[in-house]
Amino acid sequence: MIRTTLLLLITCVVSLAWAAPEDSRRPGGVAIIDVGSTELAMPEVSFSDRPVLVMQDAGRWKAVVGIPLDTAPGPVTITANGVEVPVTIKEHAYAEQRLTVKNQSHVTPDQAQLDRIGRERKIIDGALNNFRDVPVTGIALAAPVGGPHSSSFGKRRFFNDHPRAPHKGMDIAAPEGTVIAAPGRGVVAATGDYYFNGKTVIIDHGQGFVTMYCHLSEIGVHEGQQLETDDPVGAVGATGRVTGPHLHFGTYLNGTAVDPALLLQTVTTAE
Ligand code: ZN
Repeated sequence: MIRTTLLLLITCVVSLAWAAPEDSRRPGGVAIIDVGSTELAMPEVSFSDRPVLVMQDAGRWKAVVGIPLDTAPGPVTITANGVEVPVTIKEHAYAEQRLTVKNQSHVTPDQAQLDRIGRERKIIDGALNNFRDVPVTGIALAAPVGGPHSSSFGKRRFFNDHPRAPHKGMDIAAPEGTVIAAPGRGVVAATGDYYFNGKTVIIDHGQGFVTMYCHLSEIGVHEGQQLETDDPVGAVGATGRVTGPHLHFGTYLNGTAVDPALLLQTVTTAE
């Protein structure tokens, strides 16, 4: 039988393809490591004595490992069910960033302010390091607000010429009051008004996958609240150590900050 097929493109079909998280074995990156068939039980994976997120992908278990910004290039070891898996971390040079803030006490805090910063650090670290053992089906995230993204993750920073910790997130420029939408399902792990971060929300997405929203004008959620994708969590502001209104968006795996750009869903259009 002879069949003639006529392909007629009547309309331009636009499809949205959500890219899988990128395997990026660099400081501040994410290593995606195959740790066996899903016909077997989910393996227990750890890195630097911290539990690591494991999820299913096309019949395989994949460990999703956050690589700390201060990791030296070269070999590191992931442990899967007690078996050591070598992973090579590539070098990545992060640029410098020089910022000017008006409030000098945000650069050189006094003792009372340092005490407050120390107390807040414990609360924030507790939320960022929490490991809630629930299934995680994916780590791709929608952007929490629209607007231009900085690519300043990992940059070594100087505030008013004083060297400070590297930038551990992505800054998204948006007007004060812009609603921030939860980029994925989760539970609110902490909220607070912190010295450097200003009004802050931390969302726990499970298995040590945590996202953080800083410098808000308003917090719209409470601790323990269950969130679905797109639920409002607060509004963009300029609280804490800032140079102007923006959202600081942080993403964490196994207690370490990773580049949010690696997790944001990329929209591709195809005909
Ligand atoms: Zn920031």
